[in-house]
This record gives sequence, structure tokens and C-alpha cells, in this order.
Amino acid sequence: MSDVNPYQSLRTQIDEAAQYLDVADGQIERLKTPERVLETNLSVEMDDGSIEVFRAYRSQFNGDRGPYKGGIRYHPGVTRDEVKALSGWMVYKTATSDIPLGGGKGGIVIDPSDYSEAELERITRAFAEELTPLIGVDRDVPAPDVNTGQREMNWIKDTYETIENTTEPGVITGKDISSGGSEGRVEATGRSTVVAASEAFEYLGKDLEGATVAVQGYGNAGWIAAKLIYEMGANVVAVSDSSGGIYREESFDPVAVKEFKRETGSVVGYPDADRELTNDELLTLDVDLLVPAALENAIDEQLAPDIAADVISEAANGPITPAADEILREEDVLVVPDILANAGGVVVSYFEWVQNRQRFYWSEDRVNEELDETIVDQFQTLIDAYESRDLPSLRIAAYVVALERVIDAGEEAGTWP
Ligand code: GLU
Repeated sequence: MSDVNPYQSLRTQIDEAAQYLDVADGQIERLKTPERVLETNLSVEMDDGSIEVFRAYRSQFNGDRGPYKGGIRYHPGVTRDEVKALSGWMVYKTATSDIPLGGGKGGIVIDPSDYSEAELERITRAFAEELTPLIGVDRDVPAPDVNTGQREMNWIKDTYETIENTTEPGVITGKDISSGGSEGRVEATGRSTVVAASEAFEYLGKDLEGATVAVQGYGNAGWIAAKLIYEMGANVVAVSDSSGGIYREESFDPVAVKEFKRETGSVVGYPDADRELTNDELLTLDVDLLVPAALENAIDEQLAPDIAADVISEAANGPITPAADEILREEDVLVVPDILANAGGVVVSYFEWVQNRQRFYWSEDRVNEELDETIVDQFQTLIDAYESRDLPSLRIAAYVVALERVIDAGEEAGTWP
């Protein structure tokens, strides 16, 4: 895994797309720069009475199309530039999906597996207190990301509502159903990754039934993608997590692998595997579909020439570096970019926010139907742009479409003063 700076990757992606747009340099710089970044240090009491300090960030990148929107990640590798990049990707993700939201992202530098649940609650509530003046249902709406989920969202909602003396479930999404969450939200990221992949297969005239699939990362996005694609008749021949990977020619049953990981902490050691393999070996398998569902920079320019998959659907944010992307383009690998493929998470977050504001809740079928329609429609929009404007890749097509939407919203608003 390379140490390419993700914020530089975001800037390169925007520059590449900007070549196909008639926009002034100052405008492009604005679209590559966050509006503001909170950096804060949380002092929290541990179970043994000691104090620990945790660095935390929230980047509000662009709000031209609506409230800042994006998750909060707990990971030891979180940096200011990573959070800036992730918040920018959210801007172009909400624009690509055509939902009326901007982009933001947050993170705490922490390995949550080192802390008790009570400690994590105090850390989360300390961050929520710092965030309270900045967030709000019409201002900035956080959500889950790597290593956070319903539990953390419920704590943040409760802290915000207690301080503000209100009930405002739409201040955060990805909550538990009983705290005002939406049906289908947990599955949404994996679901859109699979819907986008299936559209890509159809575009190429390939059959998903019987296709071979490798999934890197077995967290919420990766494992749900594996489960759904298996249900659609594909063979999930390889899966991995941060400890390594496993291979089975005849396909894994993703639910059984998940159960094993829940019990043992990893997919490695799963008894029905033919063999074990490294993450790099998994990424370079000769499969029909590759789903990178871990972190940024999984595929860099060293690894890219060895990629043998026909289609890549990016469940993670930023898993392919810009230099690797160029190599894959030359090799004719069809990459469905993160800002569409994994947009299901934020699209269903948008549905959750709408339901919260209306205090009226939808069935899971309705959520899934509206999500599928959004991804299918916007995939077609990208294909139309890619073909009619002769763009080099679907990623560039996505950025061209998204940048135009953000620029239009900014221009309509005008400049003040
Ligand atoms: N963290 C997810 C993402 O990267 C979801 C964000 C959201 O729901 O706001 O898209």
C-alpha cells in the first residue's frame, strides 16, 4: 500500500476533469480546497482514571448544494489531509448521486479496539460536544465511516440533543432504527457497489451470473457487497481483511465467512478455504470483478500493471491512486468510481434525513427501490457523458458531471458581498 497523500489525489482528480470544463483557475482552486477544518484535541478520562488526549478533525469542504454531509472515521491512520480528501470526495459523491447535500468528513486518530465501550462512549461524546456548534440538520450532518456505526451515531445524536435541548434526529444519519435510523442504511454502501457493478457488466455485455469476484476488506461495505453479489449468482472466490485473505475456487458463502470473522476476529483461518493469500495477491487475481472495500491507496502504480480483473467497483473511498488509475485506463479495466459505486451509503443517509425531517418512515423495499433507481440513473448519466464527450474514464466523467453540478449551484448563489 502506497503512502500517496489522498488530498493530493483528490486535487489531481479535479484537475484532470477540469481540463474538459471551461472554468477559471480561481474557481477550480475553490473546488479543490475545504471551506474550513476543525482540529481539536479531546481529553478523556480512561477507565483506570488516567487522561488520554485524542486528535480529532471535521472538514467542511463545500456546502454549495446543501448541508455538509459525510462520515466520521476512527482509525490510527487518520490525518488532517486524509480527512480533507475524504470530505472533498463527499462533495463530488453527493453531486454525482444528485442529492441536495454538500460534503464533509471527520475522524479521530484512534484504534478503537484498544478501548472499552465506556471509554469509546466518553471519547465519542467529547467529540460530539466539540462538533455541536458546527453541525445541525441544515448545516452539517455526520454519519458512520470506517470503525464507526449505529452505536456511535446514537451517542452523537443524544449528546447534541441534550446540549441543544431539542429532538433533532436528522442531525446525524446511520442511527439505529429505534433512534430514528432508516431501513436499509447498514446495507446501502455494499448494495450500491453491487448495483453499480451489475450496470457495468451490462454495459460490457458480460454476465454477472457465474462471474468470479474478489473482495478486499470485510467490513460493512465489503461483506455486504460479497453477500449481495453471491445472491445474484456470482462466485465470491476471494475475500480478505487487514490480517490477510482466503481463496476458494467454488465460491465462499459470504454469510458463513462473516460468522467466522465475528467469532475469531478475521476471515483468515476459515476452514472451507482452498488456500490463504495476501491482500496484494487478492487484488491481482484474474477475476471478472474486483471490489476494493478497505482503505485508500490499495492499488498504486506498482500494483496496477498486475491487475487482471475486468471490472473494478470501488466500495472504499480512494482505493486507486491517480497514477494507478491511468495505468488501468490504458489496460482497459472498467473502473466504476467510488463517488458513484459506494454512494449508496450517503444516498440512504439522505433518505434517512428526509424521513427524520418528515417524522415519517419508509419500508425497506421503498428505500432499496429508490436507492437502486438513483444508482442506475446516475450510472447512465456517467456513461452518456463518457461517450458523448469522449472522456477517458468513468471517473473523469463522474468528476465532470459532479463539478458542473457544484459550479452551477455556486453560480446560482452568486458571490457575497
Ligand atoms: N461514510 C460514508 C461515505 O464515505 C457515508 C457518508 C454519509 O452517509 O454521510 O460515503
